[in-house]
Amino acid sequence: MKYISTRGNIAPVGFKDAVMMGLATDGGLLLPERFPVIDDGTLSAWRSLPYRELAFQVISRFVDDIPAADLKNLIDKSYDSFAHEEITPVVAKNGVHILELFHGPTLAFKDVALQLLGNLFEYLLKESGRKMNIVGATSGDTGSAAIYGVRGKENINIFILHPYGKTSPIQARQMTTVLDANVFNIAVNGTFDDCQNIVKDLFNDLPFKEQYALGAVNSINWARVLAQVVYYFYAWFRVTDSQESPVVFSVPTGNFGDIFAGYVAKRMGLPIAKLLLATNENNILTRFINDGDYSKGSVVQTVSPSMDIQVASNFERYLYYLFDESPARVRECFSQFAATGRMTFTAEELERVRKDFASRSVNEEETLETIAAFHLETSYILDPHTAVGVKAAQDCAAGSTVVCLATAHPAKFAEAVEKATGNRPPLPGSLEGIEQLPTRCEVMPADRATIQNYVAEKAL
Ligand SMILES: *Cc1c(COP(=O)(O)O)cnc(C)c1O
Repeated sequence: MKYISTRGNIAPVGFKDAVMMGLATDGGLLLPERFPVIDDGTLSAWRSLPYRELAFQVISRFVDDIPAADLKNLIDKSYDSFAHEEITPVVAKNGVHILELFHGPTLAFKDVALQLLGNLFEYLLKESGRKMNIVGATSGDTGSAAIYGVRGKENINIFILHPYGKTSPIQARQMTTVLDANVFNIAVNGTFDDCQNIVKDLFNDLPFKEQYALGAVNSINWARVLAQVVYYFYAWFRVTDSQESPVVFSVPTGNFGDIFAGYVAKRMGLPIAKLLLATNENNILTRFINDGDYSKGSVVQTVSPSMDIQVASNFERYLYYLFDESPARVRECFSQFAATGRMTFTAEELERVRKDFASRSVNEEETLETIAAFHLETSYILDPHTAVGVKAAQDCAAGSTVVCLATAHPAKFAEAVEKATGNRPPLPGSLEGIEQLPTRCEVMPADRATIQNYVAEKAL
């Protein structure tokens, strides 16, 4: 399988190069040159597979340059760190199915991808004798999951930028209490978008990227999207009993990575009726789907901070398909956006968007009400991100079989849960005592040069 860029200006590369490249060298995002299509026979054969084996079946369709035994071993190892034997179990509550993606080491869905990505990096660096300096931006969950993916690994340093004071206290602790020598936390005085823009700038500085062998872990890395495709299949099998059953997936969305993985599963032939894109008050993607209005607003802080994003980095991947795989149209669209702060779409394009996606923006009050009502009716505690998806599902998908992606454990967002229910959710064993642990972190201004110098000084 070869990978191409949404901007159309790189020669196709293999999977291993795609993983190491992160952002394509022409500024675009990498995509497989075609989607493997899973026929009905294969789909029924996959129904009874345990998670790790299903993951191997799905992922190996996109990888032809790693020996099967090695790939299998990397996948198996990645999910050994999960606390639930099913890895991503599905529970039925109150007429919806909750796909619990938070049983990894940092209690958020990003572990599903980043445990694998860390192992892939280690494997590929060992093979090539190279080193890598990972630089990433996080609104909270990516950072800790990335750090846990590579902490203590050889030939890798990791630099994670987070917006100072804008992650939940537990999220900040999960990052800054990791004291391994290869981990560098940078708290930026600014927003998540500031962090993300600085990281993008460093990657777009090609001589710098080359000299310091920069690697990406944010959701632009294709391997992350790929690892997330697996649980759409896994969940679909848990909630259906025949091949035709269409299912709605409700996905709390920030950077469009997780929901894009659902789009890939759909393009592979998984019967997904609709992808329901749930946003908080940062609703640029909802405005896009419902009104064709993709225009940048300012970032609002909410109780679901991992979705406090205006410009979704993975959205470009979807645009490539919406524009009939035309890199010229993608380039044109992004220069329009850079110049005017908005993108425009034809009526025909929007009609196609709405064949695959529906969307609902959920405000703060609704989010807290949903946590409270769901808890009252079922005793189950939703985290605020998951609650956004559940509310969207209750409103837009009543009567369908619906799977709501539960993207974080409620204990990570204890303040919001307490506000909604009156009680703090109990900390799972893995987080007990985290408040007392020593931390390491640098606070810096939202200034590219300052951060670039720091990375250069500490890089491998
Ligand atoms: C990252 C994250 C999201 C958003 O996922 P995207 O892939 O960025 O759309 C939602 N919920 C939680 C808890 C997250 O950490």
